[in-house]
Amino acid sequence: MAHVRQLVIASMALLAGACSSAPTSRGLAQDAVTAMGGAEQLRGVRTLVMRGGTGTRNRVGQTVHVGDPDRTGQLRNVIETLDLAGGRAALDYQFENDGFMQHRQEVLTKKGDALVGLENVAGRPLAAMSPSGLFSWGSQNSPEFLLRRNVITVALAAAESAPEEPPQDKSFNGRTLKAAAVTLPSGEMATVFFEPESKLLAGYEVLDTESMLGDVTAQYILSDYKPAGGLTLPHKITIRKGDQPYSEVQFASASVNDPAAQEVFTIPASANAEVDTAITAGDYSSITITKVADAVYFVRAYSHNSLIVEFPAWLALVEAAYTDAQSHTLARVLQQQFPGKPVRYAAVTHHHYDHTGGVRTMASYGATILVEKGHEPELRMILESPHTNPPDALETKRKAGQPVGALEVYEGKKVLTDGGQSLELYAITGNPHVDPKVIAYVPTSRVLFQSDLFFPGTGAPASPDAVHLLKVVRDLKLRVATNVGGHGGVGPFGELEKSVAAAGQ
Ligand SMILES: [Zn+2]
Repeated sequence: MAHVRQLVIASMALLAGACSSAPTSRGLAQDAVTAMGGAEQLRGVRTLVMRGGTGTRNRVGQTVHVGDPDRTGQLRNVIETLDLAGGRAALDYQFENDGFMQHRQEVLTKKGDALVGLENVAGRPLAAMSPSGLFSWGSQNSPEFLLRRNVITVALAAAESAPEEPPQDKSFNGRTLKAAAVTLPSGEMATVFFEPESKLLAGYEVLDTESMLGDVTAQYILSDYKPAGGLTLPHKITIRKGDQPYSEVQFASASVNDPAAQEVFTIPASANAEVDTAITAGDYSSITITKVADAVYFVRAYSHNSLIVEFPAWLALVEAAYTDAQSHTLARVLQQQFPGKPVRYAAVTHHHYDHTGGVRTMASYGATILVEKGHEPELRMILESPHTNPPDALETKRKAGQPVGALEVYEGKKVLTDGGQSLELYAITGNPHVDPKVIAYVPTSRVLFQSDLFFPGTGAPASPDAVHLLKVVRDLKLRVATNVGGHGGVGPFGELEKSVAAAGQ
């Protein structure tokens, strides 16, 4: 018996030995931090600038038809600046998609302790806004993601919060890896994955709330680790959201604590007044409202405009464009200018994300969202998907059981009429930009609103989109006097006719 007991004790000792030497999640996370240069070095990172990035961006919401395969935009000259010490972040890149090209910079900066957004798009004036007003086609749809999703923050959080238990085996990017659940400084949970040989982080999985897609499981896949500023940092970052490609950027270099990194966060003196306005307002994006004709108003934003039609007891909005901040600002300004008249309807002209970014917020104020049947699947996704991390206005009101605007689908044509005023919505087909496309017409004052097809008041030449627009307006026998643009401004209808004639059409 004695030797049996000894054997049992010996095997228990072996087991205990195996347990204590088997890696814990915490141990793996600490190894990852060590492999990156050590906790002290990582905590010493005040700024990180990733430069010379090239890659791709998906989910840009620019298809011709709802349901078409997603287009892949190209990213070039990507510079991503992270100010970890100051809680600021900036995206700078050239975006190209099917002939469209734009150099954009979106900056989340601070004045005092208050966060504020700066958007700098080549060809447009610099705009200051609340952080909720930032729109991006960079590697993320807001620079704020860089603060919560960067490898330094996640690795340090993992080393402090991963459990002292054996890691689990989980699948990540087609491989089975050791994984651990960790808590990020934001309070969010993440699953981190470890490379077996290098000990570095293979990546992490989190819940991202995208402005258009809503809640999506997101994978951040890290590769091409290289030395930079005394650390070992990933130079290729691939992001998948909702199990589909989102962005992938290969950076040429990374610099740590470069004093020049701060420059991008400087608020130009010319933007100071608007920065103060944005901070005071809470949600803010620049708009001005001007009268176009009797009971018809042009909402000029700095990039994506709208139209307001006044009815006896309510207002109709055409295009809730760009961002939640723009819709919040518009709702506030309309309440001041038209007290007691709610926005009863918000009409969608097409499903492109830059023209639908404010739809959820308008629904949160109770507006019925008018959607043409051809755009329904995309708009249903935008309106119905949960947005919990963090919750937006629509999510918050729904959770609280408060009334919100519903989606109303029509086919081909919709007319709103009340007290002698009317607004006509026509779904036009065959336009190269998007198909179908809704144009809006106010017959009493002969005002047309169209977005993306012709830019009134800019002297822009007629594109095939504009040629098609003119043909459709003639076919529909709309007696347009004034042409209001979702881009550009307001112009006489003759401007479109001249420009099409000049194009030889
Ligand atoms: Zn468009």
